[in-house]
Amino acid sequence: MKKKFYITTPIYYINAEPSVGSACTTVAADVVARLHRQLGEEVFYLTGTDEHGEKVDESAQKAGLSVQEYCDQIAPKFSEAWKLLNISNDFFIRTTDKRHEKVVGEVLTKMYESGDVYKDKYEGYYCIGCESFKTEKELEDNHCPMHPPEKTVWKSEENWFFKLSKYVPKIIELIENDETNYVFPEGKRKEILAKLKAGVRDISISRESVSWGIPIPWDTKHTIYVWIDALINYYSATQFLEGKADFWPANLHVLGKEILWFHAVIWQAMLMSAKIEIPISTYTHGFYTIDGQKMSKSLGNTIPPKEMVAEFGVDASRYLIAKSFPNENDVDIGLGRFRETYNADLANNLGNLVSRVSKLAQGMKVEKKTLAFEHEFIDLIERLKLGEAIEFVLNKWINVSNAKINEVAPWKLDKEDPKRVELMNFCVDNLAKAAWHLKAFMPEASEKIEKVLDGEVGQMEGYLFPRILTAEQASKTGQVEQKNASEKLIIGVIKNISKHPDANTLQVVDVDTGTLGVVQIVTGARNIKEGDVVPLVLPGGRVNSPKGGIVKIEKGKLRGVKSFGMLASELELGVGEDHTGIYILDKKLADKVGQAIGKFVEIKI
Ligand SMILES: [Zn+2]
Repeated sequence: MKKKFYITTPIYYINAEPSVGSACTTVAADVVARLHRQLGEEVFYLTGTDEHGEKVDESAQKAGLSVQEYCDQIAPKFSEAWKLLNISNDFFIRTTDKRHEKVVGEVLTKMYESGDVYKDKYEGYYCIGCESFKTEKELEDNHCPMHPPEKTVWKSEENWFFKLSKYVPKIIELIENDETNYVFPEGKRKEILAKLKAGVRDISISRESVSWGIPIPWDTKHTIYVWIDALINYYSATQFLEGKADFWPANLHVLGKEILWFHAVIWQAMLMSAKIEIPISTYTHGFYTIDGQKMSKSLGNTIPPKEMVAEFGVDASRYLIAKSFPNENDVDIGLGRFRETYNADLANNLGNLVSRVSKLAQGMKVEKKTLAFEHEFIDLIERLKLGEAIEFVLNKWINVSNAKINEVAPWKLDKEDPKRVELMNFCVDNLAKAAWHLKAFMPEASEKIEKVLDGEVGQMEGYLFPRILTAEQASKTGQVEQKNASEKLIIGVIKNISKHPDANTLQVVDVDTGTLGVVQIVTGARNIKEGDVVPLVLPGGRVNSPKGGIVKIEKGKLRGVKSFGMLASELELGVGEDHTGIYILDKKLADKVGQAIGKFVEIKI
C-alpha cells in the first residue's frame, strides 16, 4: 500500500480577496504536496474558505447581498486564484458546505459528551475584527492593536465554554517531548510552551448574538464560534469525502504565525476531548511585508496572485513566491525585487542554460536515467526551507553549468570535439536533475525542459523565461528599433492605467509586450481597461494619420511623461473610420502577446 500524506493550508477567511500572503501559504503547501507525490506517496491536499462569523455577515451587508450570496461570490475568487497558480489541491472545502456542518455538530457533541463543555456568563473586551475576546493585556490604548478602536467592544454573553485548561498539561507534555512534538519550527515551539505555562483559561465556543454560523446541536439558540467551526474543516473533509478517512490524522498543517495558538493548542485540545487522533505536525511561517510596509487592504499594497501571473507567468510566480517564503522571520518583497530575481534566476540563469543546451547540443543522444532526490534537498523541503531548496538546485546544477560553458566557449569548438561533447553531456545531465528537483515548484517549466531532453536534445521553442525589460531598458538596448518594420505592430496587453500627472485628457498606460517587457504609453483614449488586448505600434512603425497621410511613430514624451510608441485606433490601423478610441483585439490573442499582429488579424496600414 502506498504511504499516505495529508497536508492542509488554513481555510481563508472570505472578508477579503486572495493576496500574495495567502498565496505564499498555498504555494508552499503545494510544493510539499507535489514533492510527496513525486516520492510515490498518495497525497491529499486540502485548502478552502472559512465562511461563517460576524465579519462575513458585515461584509455581505456592505455589499448589499445575502450572506450566502456573498460567500458564493467570494469563495470562487480563492479557488480560481489557486487554479491560476496551478495549485494541486485535491479538494476545496467551504465551511458553508452542509456536509461539513454535519461533522462539526458531531465533533461538538462528542466534546459535550466528554463533559468538557459547560454554560457560563462571559464578560469582557471583544474585538469584532478578530472575532475573539481579549484580555486587558492584549489591548493597547483600550483597543485591539490589530484593528481600529471602534472594533473593540464590551460584551456580556451567556456562552458555552470548553475546558481548554484541562488539556494543557497533556499538550505541554506532547510538545516538550521530541518524539511527539508537533509544533515547528523550534522558535514557535518555545513561544507556545511559554504561553501554555503562563496559564490558560477556558474558552467560549458559542455566540448568542451571531446568527451566521452553525447552531450548537443541543442548544440551537447559540451558534458555534467561527474558529471552532473552521478548525474542524481539516477533519471533516476526511469524513464526508469518500475514501479519505484513512488520511486522518493530517501529516502537516501549514499556517501563518497569527493563527498558531488556535492550531497548536485549541485544535489539539478539541480533538483530544472528542477522542480523535491529533495531527502529526503544524508548521508556522512568518509574514511578507511589501516594500518595507505591512501588507494591508487599506494601504492597497497587496499583490493579487493574478497580477503576478499576468506579469511573470504561472511557474515563475510560484518560483518567486516560494523563493521568498518567510520561515521564522518576516520577509520583505516587492514587484521590483521580483523582477530582479526573475531576470537573475530564471531568464539569465536557468532559462539561459536551457537555450544554450538546446542550441549547442541539438541532436545529441540523451540516455534515459532514473533520477533520485538528493537527501539534502528533501530535508530542506520537509523543513519548509523553500528558498534554500531552490538555492541548492541552482548552486548544484545550474550555476556550474553556465560557468563551465562560459569557460569552455563550446561555440568555438567543433561539434564533435570531445571537449564540447563532454561539456554538453555534463550540462544535459545537470539540467535533467535540476528539472526533476524543481518540478514541485515549476511543474510546467520542468516538463518543457524534460521535453527538450527527451531521447535527444531538441529545440526549445521560444524562451522558457523571456527577460522582462522595462521600457527604459528596452530603449537603451535598442532592441525594439532593431526589429523589422513589419514587426512594429504587435499584440500588447494592458497591465495598468493611471492618470497623467499633468494632463486631464491623457492617461499613462503600461503595456505588456511579452519578450520586450512592459512598456509605457501615453494615450488620450478612454475606452481601455486593464487586461484589454490592444494593437501596439512600436517606435519606427507607421500609421494612418487622422489628418491624412501616413506618419511614423517615434518614442518621446507627452506633457513630460515618456511614451514608447502608441496604441492605435481603427483609423490609424486602416480598418475603420473611428480615431477616438483604441482598437481592442480579441481576448484570445492575449497568449500571442508580443507577436506581430499581421499573423493573426488582417490589418492594412
Ligand atoms: Zn482585533
